[in-house]
Amino acid sequence: MKAVQIKKPGDLQIIDMDKPVISGENNVLVKMTSAGICGSDVGIYHGTNAAATYPRVIGHEIVGVVEEIAKGVTNVKPGDRVIIDQVTACGKCYACRKGRPNVCGNLKVRGVHIDGGYREYLNVNEMDCYHLPDFLPDRDAIMIEPTTIAVQCCSRAALEQEDEVLIIGAGALGSSVLRIAKLYHPKKIIMSDIDDQKLKESLDAGADEVINSLKENVPERAHEMTGGYGPTVTIDAACVKGSLLTALEATGNAGRVITMGFSVAPDEVNQFLITSKELDVRGSRLQNRKFQQVIDLVNEGKIDLKGSVSHSFHFTDAQKAFDFVDSKDPSIRKITLTFEK
Ligand code: MN
Repeated sequence: MKAVQIKKPGDLQIIDMDKPVISGENNVLVKMTSAGICGSDVGIYHGTNAAATYPRVIGHEIVGVVEEIAKGVTNVKPGDRVIIDQVTACGKCYACRKGRPNVCGNLKVRGVHIDGGYREYLNVNEMDCYHLPDFLPDRDAIMIEPTTIAVQCCSRAALEQEDEVLIIGAGALGSSVLRIAKLYHPKKIIMSDIDDQKLKESLDAGADEVINSLKENVPERAHEMTGGYGPTVTIDAACVKGSLLTALEATGNAGRVITMGFSVAPDEVNQFLITSKELDVRGSRLQNRKFQQVIDLVNEGKIDLKGSVSHSFHFTDAQKAFDFVDSKDPSIRKITLTFEK
């Protein structure tokens, strides 16, 4: 079978590899049908993802059809359409015992530390398969994974109705966080970004107020917009140099600051900002078994994942797809790979 492998940074190849065979109990063979291209896949391709190891078959937004099951599998049957959880964990370490496998001490993420789903077949544990709603096409279903990331971050933020929320960054991540944050009906959601068009889209998507961070001071404006107190929750979905400091400055006393970035670039912050306001600074990484929650939201009609995908390429044309991502064409939203012959 064929697979998309990043041999080393900047070197994408279509390789031949052995088709996996189901091994042991609980194992399921899935024939891939659709896979999303995520910023982190692009980062692995460019060598800017510090977590990745090479060579690596990438891809973690992965949807397919169950082809074969091992004896004893009860969660799925051949023909079922599924999305696959990208997190694999040891189940034994402190994080796992605390119910947080997404930060397992021996964490292996598909497409990052172990081979992912840009290939024709993948074998996984039945517990990593989640049934897709019948009405949701495969190409839209890959959006369940990015949505789990937003659900994770709102869960880490412990959002409540009385919260006033600042989301820094109105790109793919920030707009997804906005969509989920709204389900908690917080008192106010403020979005900041450098791009007026994205801010306009945020208002259309239900943000209450917006701040253009090129033209205005974000902490100052956020304070004004919250009656002088500051947002009680700030989510950094921009993850750029300076955004952590902005979040710490903006957030009001006893608030929460959620980080989602993977940058290792130093960012100068100081203890006073955290201590004086007794802020909770919490990381939000990947997702902690949030797939079913998102699928339930889709089934209940609370979120609509259709319309997010702007372009599709056959997986053997992955180079073209990644070059197109690099072109930063303004029409790009979500790009998917397809697997049909
Ligand atoms: Mn992703």
